[in-house]
Amino acid sequence: MSNLSAGKEILAYCGKCKLSLYHTIVVMKDDTTPHKVQCSSCKSTHAFKDQSVKPKKKKTTTRRKKVTKPNSEIWAEKLKDNSNTPIKYSIVHPFILGDIVDHPKFGIGIIEKTIDTNKVEVLFETELKILMHNKK
Ligand SMILES: [Zn+2]
Repeated sequence: MSNLSAGKEILAYCGKCKLSLYHTIVVMKDDTTPHKVQCSSCKSTHAFKDQSVKPKKKKTTTRRKKVTKPNSEIWAEKLKDNSNTPIKYSIVHPFILGDIVDHPKFGIGIIEKTIDTNKVEVLFETELKILMHNKK
């Protein structure tokens, strides 16, 4: 039989301390269950919670970051696979897919797409650019 009674100590979960601590029983619910207990640590009186009842863990929303390769990495890989000789960028030069362009401002880029006869999409180390080309 339980010998619990008011004034005795019991291990209980303290919601304030967030720990299982010794509590002094203040009021008994019945012969075996304390109703109110006082925390020996923070001295707060609260309803008895069995120490085995673990506090619910806060749901941690794990936000997965999209793993996108940095532009420069893709750029470097593409350059590695491309054996074309860089062509100095000129608005009049007609570029084709896979051409390597040497741009005075953006540096080395790879023609990713020919949008139309006058526009090409070029992947530079830091960004994807749309450049004019083939202008007569
Ligand atoms: Zn406490």
